[in-house]
Amino acid sequence: MHESSIALSLIDVACEVLRAHGAARASALTVRVGQWSSVVPEALLGAFPACAEGTPLEGARLSIVRVPGVAECPRHGPVELEATRGLRCPLCGAPTPTLLRGDELELDELELA
Ligand SMILES: [Zn+2]
Repeated sequence: MHESSIALSLIDVACEVLRAHGAARASALTVRVGQWSSVVPEALLGAFPACAEGTPLEGARLSIVRVPGVAECPRHGPVELEATRGLRCPLCGAPTPTLLRGDELELDELELA
């Protein structure tokens, strides 16, 4: 259910872009999903076609770009997180509670039909 509401809000954003370009339909869209967002890419891919039915995005191909998590370590600065270690610096193990990247969910590209 979570992914359905995410798919619907992405479709909303895409429809606004279509309107801004005076385009009727889109044939493909690319979405950036952070590794540390709560979005499961597979579930989003699964939910999208049904959510897009009856909208200008119907039949559009959804591609997902996964964005790795990057957090600020007090000693090492920005470090790429490893999923197995959680919100800790992979170099020194210090807690890195502030994500710089990796929690995004955004429309990256929209291919107009
Ligand atoms: Zn560190």
